[in-house]
Amino acid sequence: MQNSYCILVHYHEISIKGGNRAWFEKTFQRNLKKHISDLPYTSINTANARVFVFGIDELRWDEYAERLKCVMGLMNATLMTQIPAEIEKIRELSAELIKDENFSSFRVSAKRQYKNYPLTSTEINIDVGAHIQSIYKKPVKLKGADLNIIIEIVKGMAYVGVDKIVGYGGLPVGTGEKAVSLLSSGIDSPVSSFEMLKRGVNLVYVHFHSAPATSRQSLRNVEELLLTLAKYQLRCELYHIPLLEIQQKIMAEAPNKFWVLLFRRAMVRLAEHIADSIGAVALITGENIGQVASQTLSNIRATSDAVEIPIIRPLAGHNKEDIINRAIKIGTYETSIEPYQDCCSFFVPKHPETKANLEEIRQIEAKIELEPLLQFAIENSEKQIIKFDPTTKVKIKSTKIQTKKLVL
Ligand code: ATP
Ligand code: MG
Repeated sequence: MQNSYCILVHYHEISIKGGNRAWFEKTFQRNLKKHISDLPYTSINTANARVFVFGIDELRWDEYAERLKCVMGLMNATLMTQIPAEIEKIRELSAELIKDENFSSFRVSAKRQYKNYPLTSTEINIDVGAHIQSIYKKPVKLKGADLNIIIEIVKGMAYVGVDKIVGYGGLPVGTGEKAVSLLSSGIDSPVSSFEMLKRGVNLVYVHFHSAPATSRQSLRNVEELLLTLAKYQLRCELYHIPLLEIQQKIMAEAPNKFWVLLFRRAMVRLAEHIADSIGAVALITGENIGQVASQTLSNIRATSDAVEIPIIRPLAGHNKEDIINRAIKIGTYETSIEPYQDCCSFFVPKHPETKANLEEIRQIEAKIELEPLLQFAIENSEKQIIKFDPTTKVKIKSTKIQTKKLVL
């Protein structure tokens, strides 16, 4: 008889969501379906805290694995062979599955969802382990084995596979509310955005540019970054907002040590406006305490002071090295280190303020008439829709946004 293959997926924190569990599971399953939409399968079911993908092409497992790693909320996934839950069959299949594998140690990891099964998980481990040992003469190693034989007993069926791929865990994208992420083309903000996607937040992105004073490279880098982040989110929106006129006004009217802070305050005000107009309830930035002059606690306070909406800073306490490693892992690092002229670093004075006095900042800002320029920036923003399409890579659609009256 031909083997029947499936993918068995375990999800992460959804299982602790109590009353909302069914909704979380549904969103997770729906997202998963979209991620593998161009790969063959016949059905996807959620049962007993597991998701089963049936009718797959097992020869394309690597492709499924690449996609599944990007589904937020996924803890792990294994390519499984499904058989009736009889211990003799499980033993034989386990031995058969590893016949082409090169290994010097192994372990068996059995799990029973079906508690009436005559053997406990430990008994299954011992039984199958002894069988494998008798054939391959290799030792069992519980920690760091070369090979992990995974067995799950669910509703009278056994699922047997070798090794699992591990996802990022967290919560399915879309189960959190909407937030606006301020995306530069540096290393930090793509990582902070990723961390929020991992918590299920639905992100809309804004990028500020100083074209034509700076090159349009940062815009291309940001698009490239979003093509990478779209692997996790599938579809997202990006607002390009021109900042040059605001910066020029600030530079003409404020002492240079306050420029960066005043730019930041203008940025968050514009981002808050976008958030209000699309029903987003927080801003996300890649700020990191002490990394640069504008990111001291006092300056962070002076930035937050400009808006009412909460600003979440997922990387506040991370070390640079950890952020870089994360950027490499999620695939944004290479784009982030491409040279570009950032709208802020381009105009940064030699000695920026590191400990802003809130009152002083407010007073200086009050003397600059920024409102018409903030309005201009919103009216001249452009919106792009970025969709991840695995077959054609990604499609980008660009549209001018509809402007609404800016209420400041
Ligand atoms: P990043 O690596 O994300 O650029 P950074 O360490 O270079 O961060 P800053 O340049 O001070 O820090 O920016 C702090 C945060 O402000 C960024 O993480 C980002 O969220 C936001 N930000 C900065 N520049 C822009 C921009 N041009 N467009 C949108 N957001 C920006
Ligand atoms: Mg930056």
